[in-house]
Amino acid sequence: MMKRASKPKAGSMGTRIQTMNNAMILIACILCTLLIYVTILVSSRYERMLEHTEDYITCVMDAGLVTDGSDCLSEQVWFYVVTGDTSYIDAYFQEKNIVRRRESALEAFEKQKPDETAYQYLEAALKNSDELVRDELYAMKLVATAMGTDLSDGSPELLDTKLSDADQNLSPEEKIAKAREIVFGSGYRESKALIMNDISHFLNHVLEMTHERQLDSISSLESFLRGQRIYIALLFVLIVCMFISIIALVIRPLQGYIRCIKEGRTVDIKGSYELQYLGKTYNEIYETNQSNASMLRHKAEHDPLTGVINRGGFEELKKVLKDEKKPMAFLIIDVDKFKEVNDGYGHEMGDKVLKRVASLIQESFRTRDFVARIGGDEFCVIMTDITEHLGLVIKNKIYMLNRMLQNPDDDFPAVSLSVGVAFTKEGFTEELYRNADRALYYVKGNGRCGISFYGEDVES
Ligand code: GH3
Ligand code: MG
Repeated sequence: MMKRASKPKAGSMGTRIQTMNNAMILIACILCTLLIYVTILVSSRYERMLEHTEDYITCVMDAGLVTDGSDCLSEQVWFYVVTGDTSYIDAYFQEKNIVRRRESALEAFEKQKPDETAYQYLEAALKNSDELVRDELYAMKLVATAMGTDLSDGSPELLDTKLSDADQNLSPEEKIAKAREIVFGSGYRESKALIMNDISHFLNHVLEMTHERQLDSISSLESFLRGQRIYIALLFVLIVCMFISIIALVIRPLQGYIRCIKEGRTVDIKGSYELQYLGKTYNEIYETNQSNASMLRHKAEHDPLTGVINRGGFEELKKVLKDEKKPMAFLIIDVDKFKEVNDGYGHEMGDKVLKRVASLIQESFRTRDFVARIGGDEFCVIMTDITEHLGLVIKNKIYMLNRMLQNPDDDFPAVSLSVGVAFTKEGFTEELYRNADRALYYVKGNGRCGISFYGEDVES
C-alpha cells in the first residue's frame, strides 16, 4: 500500500515568527510612545527656556522704560529751567500723564506675574521717581512764577503746586537760581542715583532669577535629551535585532531549503517554527514519495508470485551488466514437467511449487547473486562474483536443490530442476544467454534433473 505523509509533531520547533513579530511590534510601540513622550517634554522645556529669555528681555525693556521715562522728565525740566520755554512744560506733562512710560512699565511687569522682590525694586524706582517729580514741579513753578508765565491753560498739577512763603518773596533771579539749584543740585542727582540703584537691583535680581530658572530647565532638558538618546539607541538595537532575526530565522533557512530542494534531497531543518514545520512536512512528503517510488520500482521489477526479479527487471539488469564487462556465470533453471504438476495437483499447488523453487534458489545462492523469474517455470541466476571452482560449487548447489525438491517432507509434489550454465569474461551478452539455453536444452534432452555446462557438456 502507498504510504501517506503524516502531520509533523509540533514539539519544540524553534521560535514562531508570529510571536517574535508581535513581541517586536509591542516593544517598538512602547519605545516609540516613550520617545514621543520625551520629545514632547524636550520641546516644552525648550519653550519654557525661550519664555524665560523673553521674560528677561521684557524685564530689561521695562527697566529701560522706567529709566527712559524718568530721564525724559528730567531733561524736560532741565531744558525749561534753563530756557524758560513753555513747550518743555508741555513735553514734560505729555510724558508724565499721557505717554506714562514709567507707570506702563510697572503695569506691564505686574501683568507678567512677576517675582515679588523684583516688583518691589521696580516699584521703589517708580516711587523715587515720583518723589523727584514733586521737586521738578516745584522747580518749574519757581521758574514760571519768576518769568510771569500764565499757567491757567497748563497742567492743573503745576497750577496746584504752591510755593513756600519764603520762596514766594524771592526775586525772579533768585527764584530761577533756586529752581536750578533744585534740579541740578546734589540732592536731585542723589535722588536720580537712587532710582538707577533700584533699577540696577531690579535688573540684577531678574538676571539671577532668569539664570536660576534656565539652569533648572537645562537640567531637566538634559535628562529628557538623555532619555531621548537612550530610546533612540534602543530603537536602533531593536531594528538591528529584527534584521538579524529575519536573516537567522527566515532568509538563511529559506536559502538552505532551496539548495537542498535543488540538490533533490531532504532539507536541513532550521529557522523559525513555521519554516521548521514546512521543512519537516516537506521531508515527510519527500520520504513518503521516495518510499512510494521505490515500492513502485520494486513492484515493477519483481515478480508478485515468487518475489524474485521479474522479466522486466531481468531485461534492465542485462543492460547494466552488459556494460560492466566483467566475468560472470549465467544459469537458466527450468522446472521439469511442470505442466504435470498443474494438471495433477491444480494450478494453486503449481503456484506454491513455483514459490518454493524460487525461495530455495534464493537460499542456495549468495545474496549478491541475482535470481530472476524469466518465464512460467523458468528461473535464472547471474553470478558476477566469480571464484575458483565455481562450476563445482554450482553443481553441488543444484544437486542439493534437486535432492530437496525431489524429497519433500510435506504434501508438496516432488519436482526436479534442469539447469544450463554458461560463463563469460566480458559482461552479459545475448550469446551468454543462448549458450546457457543450449546447455539447458542438453539437460532436457538427456533425462532432465541435472546440470550441464556450455563448453564442457555442450560443445561450443
Ligand atoms: P519441461 O520439462 O519440458 O519443461 O516440461 P514442462 O511441463 O515444464 O513444460 P514447460 O516448461 O513448457 O511448461 C511450463 C508450464 O508452466 C506451462 C504453464 O501452464 C505453466 N505455468 C506457467 N506459468 C505458471 C504460473 O504462474 N503458475 C502455474 N501454476 N503454472 C504456470
Ligand atoms: Mg518446464
